[in-house]
Amino acid sequence: MTNSGDIYDVAIAGAGPAGTSAAIHLATQGARVLLVERKRFPRAKLCGEFISPECLRHFECLRVSDQMISAGAATLTQTVFYSRKGRSVNVPSEWFGANGRALGLSRAEMDQKLLERAKSAGAAVLEDTHASELILDRGCVRGLRLKCGNEIKDHHALVTIDATGRARALARKLNSRRKPEYSSRDPLVAFKAHLENAQVAEGACELYFYPGGYGGLSSVEGGASNFCFIVSAKDVRRCGSDAEAVIRESVFRNPRAAYTLAHAHARSEWLSVSLESFGRRKLVPAEGLLTIGDAAAFIDPFSGSGMLMALESGELAAQTITNHLERLRRNASVAPLAREYLVEYGKKFDSRLRICCLLRRAASVPSLAEAAIFFFGTSTRLRRKVARTTRPPQNLETPPAGGC
Ligand SMILES: Cc1cc2nc3c(=O)[nH]c(=O)nc-3n(C[C@H](O)[C@H](O)[C@H](O)COP(=O)(O)OP(=O)(O)OC[C@H]3O[C@@H](n4cnc5c(N)ncnc54)[C@H](O)[C@@H]3O)c2cc1C
Repeated sequence: MTNSGDIYDVAIAGAGPAGTSAAIHLATQGARVLLVERKRFPRAKLCGEFISPECLRHFECLRVSDQMISAGAATLTQTVFYSRKGRSVNVPSEWFGANGRALGLSRAEMDQKLLERAKSAGAAVLEDTHASELILDRGCVRGLRLKCGNEIKDHHALVTIDATGRARALARKLNSRRKPEYSSRDPLVAFKAHLENAQVAEGACELYFYPGGYGGLSSVEGGASNFCFIVSAKDVRRCGSDAEAVIRESVFRNPRAAYTLAHAHARSEWLSVSLESFGRRKLVPAEGLLTIGDAAAFIDPFSGSGMLMALESGELAAQTITNHLERLRRNASVAPLAREYLVEYGKKFDSRLRICCLLRRAASVPSLAEAAIFFFGTSTRLRRKVARTTRPPQNLETPPAGGC
C-alpha cells in the first residue's frame, strides 16, 4: 500500500556531493527540501578520493571546511603523472586554487560531513531509502515514490533532482534517448581499496599509466593510502577478477607503481565497478526533472574533477531553482527553469568535458600517452595551460559563482 507523504519544493535522490551540495544551497535559501539516500552513511565509495583545490572554496561556502580538516584529510600539493617508461611530469595543486592544496579524504568521511550539513541546514534527510519511481502527471514529474523496508510512500515536489550518480536511477525510468558521448567497446573496470605500506611521495597524488588503463595513489586520513585504478575488462577476466592479480599483471608494468606498491597490502575490501560510458547525458529528461553530478555528465577520473563538477552542478541547479521558486509556488510552468539550467550548464561545463574527452582518447593510446608526458614535461607554461583548460575559469580570490 502507498502512503502519501509531505509536499516539498525540491525532492533530491542521491546524497553524494552533487545531491548534498544542491540540498544545502536550497535549504539555506529557504526552500523545503527532501534528500533521499539508499545507503546508510558513512559508507565506502569507489573513488580516487583526490579532492581538487577548487572544492575547498565550495566547502567554505557550504560551511564544511573545518569538518573536512578535522576528519584528518591529508594535504596534497601536487599530482605527478608517471609514464610506462618511467618518465614523469608534475602538476602543482596551486595552479587550481589560491591556497595551493588539494585534500585526500575518504568518501565515507567526506560524504557524511556533507550529509550532516544538509540536515543542519534544514533539509529533510532519509537514509536507507530507495527512490524507486517518479510520480508522473501527464508526462510531468511531480515527485518521488520512496521505498524503505516494506513501506512505500509518495512525496510530491515542484522540482525533482536525479543525483544518483552514474546509475541515473530516475532518468533511466524515462527511457531517455540521449546516448552517452563515449561508450567503450570493451568496457573498463575500476577497483579501489585503502592500503597500508604504500611508498607514495608525501603530499603527492601519483598517477600511473600502463597498457589498458591507469591508477591513482594518494594519502587519506588515518595514515592509509587510497589506490584506485582502471583496467580493461578483458584483463580483469584474464586475472579471474582478482584485484591483486590485476595489479601484478597490469599495474606493475609501470615501474613507479611496481616500486610504490611492492610491499603494500589492502586494509579495506576491494570495491569494483564497471565503467561503460563517459560524457554528457540528458540534463532535463522530463518536465520537472533535472540531473546533476555524474547523472548529468561523467568526466574522466584522471582529471580529478568529478567531485568538483558534482559540487558545482548541485550549486548551479540550486541557484536556478531558487531564481524560479516563487513562480513555481504559484503553479507556473517549469519550462523557463529548464531552459535556464540547460544554457548555464552548457556555459559552465561543455568545454571542459570536450577537452577531457580528447585527453582521454590520447591517454588510451600508450605511445601517445608516453609522448604527451615527454612533451608536457618540456614546458611548465604549456602544462599549466592545458591543466587549466580541464577546470573552470576562475578568479582565485573570489568564491564560486553565485556567491555563498
Ligand atoms: C574510478 C573512479 C575514480 C574517481 N576518482 C575521483 C577523484 O579522485 N576525484 C574526483 O573529484 N572525482 C573522482 N571520481 C569521480 C567522482 O567519484 C564522481 O564524479 C562523484 O562521486 C559524483 O558525485 P555524485 O554526487 O554525482 O554521485 P555519487 O557520488 O555517485 O552519489 C550518488 C548517490 O546516490 C545514491 N543512490 C543511487 N541510486 C539511488 C536511489 N535510487 N535512491 C536513493 N539514492 C540513490 C548512491 O548510493 C550514492 O550515494 C572518480 C570516479 C571513478 C569511477
